[in-house]
Amino acid sequence: MKVSSLSARQILDSRGQWTVEVALTLQNGVRATASVPQGKSTGATEARALPAAMAVRNIKSVIATRIIHKDFLDQAALDEFLVRLDGTKAKSRLGANAILAVSIAFLRATARTKKVPLWKHIRDVYGIWVDPTTTTLHPRLFMNVVNGGLHAGNNLHFQEYLVIPRVRTFAESVDVGTKIYHALGAALARAKGHGAANLGDEGGFAPNFKDDLEPFRMIHAAAKKLKLDKKIDLGIDAAATDIKGMTRARLNNLYKKLIKEYAPLYIEDPFSENDFKNFAAITAANAGAGAGVKSKLWIAGDDLTTTNTDRMALAHAKKSVNAIIIKPNQIGSVTEALNAVRLAREYGWAVVVSHRSGETNDDFIADFAYGVAADGFKLGAPARGERVAKYNRLLEIEEGK
Ligand code: PEP
Ligand code: MG
Repeated sequence: MKVSSLSARQILDSRGQWTVEVALTLQNGVRATASVPQGKSTGATEARALPAAMAVRNIKSVIATRIIHKDFLDQAALDEFLVRLDGTKAKSRLGANAILAVSIAFLRATARTKKVPLWKHIRDVYGIWVDPTTTTLHPRLFMNVVNGGLHAGNNLHFQEYLVIPRVRTFAESVDVGTKIYHALGAALARAKGHGAANLGDEGGFAPNFKDDLEPFRMIHAAAKKLKLDKKIDLGIDAAATDIKGMTRARLNNLYKKLIKEYAPLYIEDPFSENDFKNFAAITAANAGAGAGVKSKLWIAGDDLTTTNTDRMALAHAKKSVNAIIIKPNQIGSVTEALNAVRLAREYGWAVVVSHRSGETNDDFIADFAYGVAADGFKLGAPARGERVAKYNRLLEIEEGK
């Protein structure tokens, strides 16, 4: 597969920050574009994204000149070439954002060449037969309906309050989650005044709350009123690396209360990014007898593991988690993100693919989540164009497109 042209430019993400978009054409004339998201509560061990202007310059002056007219056997060949061309551990020379944008555009152009949906091509590249009895083929949606932490200007310590529908199809999941989201917005406006339904970075509501558990009380009440409380699980991304002014003991007390009162399915990053030990303690105390998706409580690493197989090996050795967040831009190429999914499966962890808080309208991540048969897909609230693009892509996928 030969690339005949590659261009790059800066576009805006959902926070009005510059990010990278590339357009790539294969020698067969097939063209594809791709743009990359950007995180705010980033882990220290994530691959390095360069300022967009610099990444764009690198794509034009370094990557384009090296890959145009070169023959790449497959996705892995391209990604390995780019990783070697960069030559640094954190992709700090060319930029993880520069490399990932080219990697995704190549993936998309290859799928178009094969005339198959992107998720189908991802499944081929992933190359593992997905056992429908051990993994769901339909990732559960992790809908972030209340935003706090670094994603909002409110008083919540936790970053994300997640509604996780427990129904058969994407369409039904979206319907259940959206009904609760709207009812919650109305309840917030009634209880706290109209400004309370203003939105945070990922489209969730973002008012001040009485305490860190009040959002759960209100989500649960809204779901119950709609008779949907039995059709959902609850979860949080604590994003604890960025929680200021709370001791570990206070955090632990809060989790105990949360678990006792709401029996959540999912807690992501309950402690700071290098606290493998306390991750292990909360996992051991709450996972129950099952493993991975069968665990009573999924404890997921995000800043802890950063889609990085070395960090994952550490977390595995220390029994820190039974679930993982996979974000391709934490590692910087499609092939490496697929390797991380593969390793997570080997470890028996639940796999939750995730968007970033700063997104574009690129819906690649929906195809990726479905393509690798993730157990969960975290994609923000069902509001704001950049999130809705992913919801709508899932609905298309469900129709076989
Ligand atoms: C997260 O922490 O899971 C997240 C999506 O936020 P960000 O993209 O800011 O890291
Ligand atoms: Mg997170």
